[in-house]
Amino acid sequence: MSKTILPGATIGIIGGGQLGRMMTLSAKAMGYKVAVLDPTPNCPCGQVADVEIVANYNDLAAIKELAEISDVITYEFENIDYEALTFLENESYLPQGSQLLKISQHRYREKKTIEDMGIPVAPFALIRSKEDLDRAINYPSVLKTTTGGYDGKGQVVLKSVEQLAEAYDLVEKQECILESWVPFVKEISVIVHGSTTGEISVMPVAENIHVNNILHQTIVPARISKELEEKATAIGLKIAEKMKLVGTLAIEMFVTEDDIFVNELAPRPHNSGHFSMDACQTGQFEQHIRAVCGLPLGSTSLEKSVLMVNILGQHLEDLNKYLPLMPMSKLHLYGKEEAKVGRKMGHINILADLETAQKVAENTGVWK
Ligand code: AMP
Repeated sequence: MSKTILPGATIGIIGGGQLGRMMTLSAKAMGYKVAVLDPTPNCPCGQVADVEIVANYNDLAAIKELAEISDVITYEFENIDYEALTFLENESYLPQGSQLLKISQHRYREKKTIEDMGIPVAPFALIRSKEDLDRAINYPSVLKTTTGGYDGKGQVVLKSVEQLAEAYDLVEKQECILESWVPFVKEISVIVHGSTTGEISVMPVAENIHVNNILHQTIVPARISKELEEKATAIGLKIAEKMKLVGTLAIEMFVTEDDIFVNELAPRPHNSGHFSMDACQTGQFEQHIRAVCGLPLGSTSLEKSVLMVNILGQHLEDLNKYLPLMPMSKLHLYGKEEAKVGRKMGHINILADLETAQKVAENTGVWK
């Protein structure tokens, strides 16, 4: 059942990191109130929300408290446990439902669902034992835990038998999938939104560059052919339609010389969509709020070319170095107190042609 949740109502968000914070800033700009549930006091989202409930995600009493004060519930945290999800689906208003979460929480289910839609994915096999691995092994390939991994954690890249011992160790601890290595030339992502009204929108294709498995830069427009851009967009829309998407879905893809393979799904706003906050007519966080509240979606047209650069803990020791970028950029910091190495502290959207943006960024040293 679709409802229109008008400004003035309260949106409850499960998870209070940077994604929740940026959802909240968009929601507040439109006049909504926001309540957040997160285990960390004064979390990035808690700093800007109206109500902060400090509790674990699986604390059912806290989930109930959030549901009681909220007119609609959404999430930025995708590993919500089964009991909490069932409660939210049955006893409150969770327009995104739980099906997409359940699929994307498990890499095998995720790959199988995409493959069943006729969309290319890397050849993959479910691995539950050393024997399964011995049967399926091919080189190069990558072994990933079916649940719980992110930013390259819980993965072993198998280039030769030399990595087999490490792979056996992982299989002994957790169920895995083995994927053939895709010889990609680029990584891209497509972010789609679905409103409770059935309306669907797609963001411009983003080109992503990772360093140490963490997103470093997003370049939009992506430097790919028109044909591949159309193909990537069509894949995004097809997945959104087939899944009857409500909310946001980020689809990470590999681009080879002449084809596209889907790597993984994230059922929430995504780091590779942060460029849209300043470069598109409607950014991914505002679109997410519109989608779950049943408001008409906004245009996602790209207004400016953009280079998004992530700011990690190790980049933050001197904020002065960002100043030369400011005339052409928008800075977003997430309010995290401790700047650990590899921790996502913020990002900067440089709104200029790529050559200029990269040159200025290089001169200021924000790459390192
Ligand atoms: P994931 O956790 O699945 O996003 O994987 C993290 C990173 O590992 C990706 O962004 C790719 O750079 C690389 N990777 C993962 N799976 C594959 C694959 N099947 N072929 C090639 N590279 C991969």
